This record gives sequence, structure tokens and C-alpha cells, in this order.
Amino acid sequence: MELGLQKILKGLLKNPSKITTIAEAWIVAANPQDWQKELANARYNICLDCEHYRKSRPVTNDEHCNDCGCPLSKKIFSQQFKECPQNKWEVVEIEYKNKLHKKKKSIV
Ligand code: SF4
Repeated sequence: MELGLQKILKGLLKNPSKITTIAEAWIVAANPQDWQKELANARYNICLDCEHYRKSRPVTNDEHCNDCGCPLSKKIFSQQFKECPQNKWEVVEIEYKNKLHKKKKSIV
């Protein structure tokens, strides 16, 4: 049985830019705005009905996606579209599309 961490690491090796997406989700999860909480809850409710949802796993004992291996408590706060590997979140993400795609300010 492949552990979630192995799946996450394989995914990062295929697409190293994902580290930014993951880091951003962890940061937002620590202090989300109201709309980010709403989106996370909507995504989470979809996960609860998904065949890839797992309530726990060895060592970390956390809720996770068995497809990508990600911990759901952070993944649901992703600020990117289509982070669900089965594309099941799209139906709720449409409502938040503009906020998720809002241009970030940069000094560069
Ligand atoms: S992220 Fe997508 S595939 Fe994974 S448990 Fe949630 S709905 Fe299912």
C-alpha cells in the first residue's frame, strides 16, 4: 500500500511548481477569509461523498484524498482551480472563479 506522503512526493517530482500551490493552501488554511472558508467547506462536502475520501491513515491519522495523497484539511484551501484530481470540485469553484483568479499585486 502506497502511503499518502509517497503519492505527494511523486506528484511534486512530476510537477515541482505544485510546492507553491501547497504552501499557499497551508498559509490560507491558517487564517482564511470568509469566502475562503465557504469554498473550503463546499469542497469538503464533495470530498465526503467521494470514493477517494479516507477518514484516516497510519502515522498522521488525518483525513485525506486517496487519489493524490493530500491532507484535506489543507487541500480544500487551495487558491488554484481544479486541484481535485478527479475534477469534482469544479461545480462549486465556478462561483469563486473571479476571486481565485484575482491578480496578485507585485512590486516586481
Ligand atoms: S480531492 Fe477530489 S478526488 Fe480527492 S477526495 Fe476530494 S473530491 Fe475526491
